[in-house]
Amino acid sequence: MIVDLHNHTPRCHHAEGKMEEYIEKALLSGTKYFGICDHAPMDFDPEYRMAFNEMAQYQSDVLEQKEKYKKQIEILLGYEVDYLQGHMDKRVLNADVDYLIGSVHFLDEWGFDNPEFIGNYESKNIDEIWQKYFDTIEEMAKSKLFDIVGHLDLIKVFKFMPKGNINEIAKNALIAIKNADMVLELNIAGYRKPVAEPYPSRSLLKQAFDLDIPITFSSDAHKPEQVALFNDEIVKMAKDVGYKKCAFFRKRKKEFISF
Ligand SMILES: [Zn+2]
Ligand SMILES: [Zn+2]
Repeated sequence: MIVDLHNHTPRCHHAEGKMEEYIEKALLSGTKYFGICDHAPMDFDPEYRMAFNEMAQYQSDVLEQKEKYKKQIEILLGYEVDYLQGHMDKRVLNADVDYLIGSVHFLDEWGFDNPEFIGNYESKNIDEIWQKYFDTIEEMAKSKLFDIVGHLDLIKVFKFMPKGNINEIAKNALIAIKNADMVLELNIAGYRKPVAEPYPSRSLLKQAFDLDIPITFSSDAHKPEQVALFNDEIVKMAKDVGYKKCAFFRKRKKEFISF
């Protein structure tokens, strides 16, 4: 993929491989803008992310790679930030980076995408948690703290699907995303999960296209070999829906490139 903005490093304690290995894989697949965007530190769930005192080193490591590879590929620097009330931190929100991805991984502090807590689904009304998830995405967009919406329909990860119409459930969230001038990532990680399709689904992507919401592409790689996997599938899906351009960010400013 020509732009790939969401890739992790071992600093989050659940990814493996050297940053160079991710970048080399991106080079092989013809990527022009490659973003390293690891899980930002937070005072909640610290075992799945870097610590606050690692931020400076993380940022300088990425900038070192940026310099090293500058003739071959443009490396961009970001953080994937949890939208979680009471746990967002100015040190992250004001960091000197190219962009911030806002992601919802927790509903009332329940890590719903973590296989460790999959048992919690049994006690939930699936339609209600879907609505709650998208209400939280709407709130995140309205906060205007972030540039990119991470994996828009992550709540489908384990394939607990609602009875209601998903386009209706997601409608207000998408309108808020449009109003906040945010970009949606077309994220291939879903192919590696029980749901076995990208985030978002084709039908939500079409709804976003109709609202004129821009997109970008993401591997969400936690291993070097996951970089640009399923590239052809998501590029085709984006083109089928009607997209011709995708976004990337430099110092929180959006730019577009044709794909
Ligand atoms: Zn992760
Ligand atoms: Zn995520």
